Amino acid sequence: MARLVRSDTYTSTPLQPLQMDSKTKLQTVVIIGGGVGGCCTALELARTGKFNIHLLEKNPELMRETSDATPGRLGLGFHYADKNTALYYLHVTLDFIKRYGRFRQEIGRQQSHPLRRGRYFIMKDSTVPYRDILETFEAIKEEYSKMVKEDPGYEVVGPPENIFRILEPHEFEADVEIGKVHMGIETAEEFLDWPSMREYIVQQLEQHKDTVRVRRYTKALSITACDYGGYVVDSVNVFQGNMVRVSTDIIVNASWYNISKFNKMLGVTNAKRRFNRIKALVIVRLSEELANLPSMFFCMGPYGMFCNKGDGTGMMTYARETNIAMTSSSGELEPAFLRMYFNLSDRDKHIRGQRIVAGVSKFIPALRNSKVLKVNIGIVQNFINEDASEYGFQIGNLGFLHDPTKGGIHKRNYSGVEEPMPGYIINACMKLIYCFDNAKLVKDIITRKTG
Ligand SMILES: Cc1cc2nc3c(=O)[nH]c(=O)nc-3n(C[C@H](O)[C@H](O)[C@H](O)COP(=O)(O)OP(=O)(O)OC[C@H]3O[C@@H](n4cnc5c(N)ncnc54)[C@H](O)[C@@H]3O)c2cc1C
Repeated sequence: MARLVRSDTYTSTPLQPLQMDSKTKLQTVVIIGGGVGGCCTALELARTGKFNIHLLEKNPELMRETSDATPGRLGLGFHYADKNTALYYLHVTLDFIKRYGRFRQEIGRQQSHPLRRGRYFIMKDSTVPYRDILETFEAIKEEYSKMVKEDPGYEVVGPPENIFRILEPHEFEADVEIGKVHMGIETAEEFLDWPSMREYIVQQLEQHKDTVRVRRYTKALSITACDYGGYVVDSVNVFQGNMVRVSTDIIVNASWYNISKFNKMLGVTNAKRRFNRIKALVIVRLSEELANLPSMFFCMGPYGMFCNKGDGTGMMTYARETNIAMTSSSGELEPAFLRMYFNLSDRDKHIRGQRIVAGVSKFIPALRNSKVLKVNIGIVQNFINEDASEYGFQIGNLGFLHDPTKGGIHKRNYSGVEEPMPGYIINACMKLIYCFDNAKLVKDIITRKTG
């Protein structure tokens, strides 16, 4: 591992000091990555008034990569086969809604409106037996009831007894290819109005500009540990071409798919190993008669989902086409992986979008003629189970992903926050909705340290 002495003179452009009271001694925190994870961490730290924060984002705008590529499902856990993940997700989402419920999509409509409910269809050939899925669903209901009993403020998605209900076939047979479905279930899962939430976060950061310096176009290249504590981060301004060096007490690595790269640079060996998986999600124009079509998720296996965004558009994934590539690389990501993420041509994206529409239409025939508007490419991440280390790097042929019992693919029963070296904190925001919860965890680690 390369080491620097903190007093090294800088040969490149140093960061300008922030405007602040000269008597105030604020500790410096550098956050690498201006996705939802990095931005919410910056906000949470700024609200303490104790830190001088530099938020480095390589793109011209904040939160424009994976955080901007999702349907923003406010998952209550029904999505996951793993019970611990389901309950973890439930807790985080209820906390999120308690604080930011006003950012729910369709908030002006009644809670029973089809656009404020989600539908799950357990398939006849589900990779997880339907009884196990129902057991998890019951555990979610029980946990929600318990939370509401202890604190009625948690009753944010309706009465606990209504968190899910089994549908009668006549309630869905007009929408769904019924021959493939074992059972239909309606849940109280809603969606986030992500554009409004994003705008709110950007505005809040702006309000804290005295202590949060947002450096757009700034790509972190390296982190070096100093002999007497602290770190030096070297970056390049990709717009102007100049180098930027900053010395800091604390680093938050919120760079998502680049987390392992910086770990390796620092010689970190005790951080979790992770999968990064590239996913494509298609946005389509919905015909008028489908304006209120409920969002639907087909489980568990290589199926797909449809989300109704309520504005005349829908989003879809179809497992066999959506999962483009994955890697369990524990350092720099493979060039081919990065090419698939950054450089997929518009034509390739469009073709993939059409294939996703065709795939989802096998389950929801009315979507067959949906017009492809855009294809979003994002990355999902999870910690790797021992049984999956050998999967390495793969493009296509990702069949094993569809077995939720393998590799840890279907688990997110953890925050993704770790401190493998003193003052070096990883914030892998494992779900969009974990953003504020994770930010609090990071703040707690840092404030415990700094008093
Ligand atoms: C198709 C899809 C659907 C999803 N659906 C949902 C959902 O319904 N609900 C949910 O809760 N979650 C969902 N997720 C998961 C969720 O989107 C992610 O967990 C979350 O957005 C990750 O946020 P992040 O800030 O960690 O990553 P990102 O948004 O990728 O942010 C990382 C940032 O770091 C920057 N960066 C990287 N390297 C550097 C560097 N060297 N220097 C400077 N900047 C750097 C990048 O430019 C980027 O802006 C979905 C994900 C995908 C792909």
